[in-house]
Amino acid sequence: MYITRRKTRQIQVGNVKIGGDAPVSVQSMTTTDTRDVNATMEQIRRLEEAGCELIRVAVPDMEAATALPKIKAQMTVPLIADIHFDHRLALKAAEVVDCVRINPGNIGAWWKVTEVIKAVNDHGIPLRVGVNGGSLERPLLEKYGYPTAEALSESALNAVRALEDVGFTNMKVSLKASDVHMAVDAYYLFSQQSNYPLHIGITEAGTAMTGAVKSAIGLGWLLSSGVGDTLRVSLAADPVEEVKVGFEILKSLELRHRGINVIACPTCGRVEIDVVRMANELEKRLGHIKTPLNVSVLGCVVNGIGEGKEADIGIAGGEGVGILFKKGKLVRKVPIAELMECLIEEVEQMAKEKEAGGSGETPVEHHANGNGRSHQSSLGLEHAPSTIREIPVLPNKR
Ligand code: SF4
Repeated sequence: MYITRRKTRQIQVGNVKIGGDAPVSVQSMTTTDTRDVNATMEQIRRLEEAGCELIRVAVPDMEAATALPKIKAQMTVPLIADIHFDHRLALKAAEVVDCVRINPGNIGAWWKVTEVIKAVNDHGIPLRVGVNGGSLERPLLEKYGYPTAEALSESALNAVRALEDVGFTNMKVSLKASDVHMAVDAYYLFSQQSNYPLHIGITEAGTAMTGAVKSAIGLGWLLSSGVGDTLRVSLAADPVEEVKVGFEILKSLELRHRGINVIACPTCGRVEIDVVRMANELEKRLGHIKTPLNVSVLGCVVNGIGEGKEADIGIAGGEGVGILFKKGKLVRKVPIAELMECLIEEVEQMAKEKEAGGSGETPVEHHANGNGRSHQSSLGLEHAPSTIREIPVLPNKR
């Protein structure tokens, strides 16, 4: 299966490009009280270490907005301020952050939105227009009766057009719902009528496991059809897990190649080593490696080496002895007690060699649509490129 990415405009959030030919980026949001700078920074550091490329923090009040400069000063990735209800918080945040997210459904009167636009424009930063099924404008709820994909898309298009009419185009858009079908359809509907970069996500997806599954289905569906420029997996869990799941989704679709991809067999009656423990330990201990490497842990040699042919390196259990293989070829036999350490050492070495050779992460932005298929959503929508309205653009001052 090949993926043709939808061609979107490109914006820049800090040093991260979103849309156009930029790789799909992974973002997350802190769960700490933003006013508590130390706690927030502790979480941000863990997110940065996990590879999170953009980090959003909630700004619920002026004290949180005042903490932003201290947070921003210690960060290595772009900072996004999440604002609801009070536009004055957006004005304050725009002074320091790399992007401001507002929800037009709850920010209030239009003049408040225009003040936010002026502020982000003065600071040369983009806006994320984030509509949400839970906070649609009253007229749309009256029109549709309840939140629907059409209502979400209409809400986002209304906001985008209103911003365009005052000459503002430096934005990305999200249309989130916790219902997977609704979210997917809303993104498709919108993407047929606008080519702003899309921040995709299934909101309030659930706990680590259910949220990961819902997100993988919803985001996987969108991404495999070319829709989505940056993503956030929303989990009721440690946000570091959101980053891991986000990358796994992109890696599974071969849209990003980053870090260790652990291939582990499900085990069966032939298993000779503790595959489950070893695979989990590998993910933990090799999580710092950014170079893409497929590492295989297979329970036995019967099918092991064959099953692990696609891996760069791997181990398989044998009778009282393990084997280490590279690209499907036996390298040497290793006592089972030493197998894990031996593999970790070899992977670290391989990663170093690859990095030295300049083959770190290679963004995969290929994908001619080889099979000629295009997505059709439950609304019967064929995904198609959209046209851009010709509008004046405010000068970018940063
Ligand atoms: S690799 Fe061996 S232990 Fe694992 S599933 Fe295949 S046959 Fe079973």
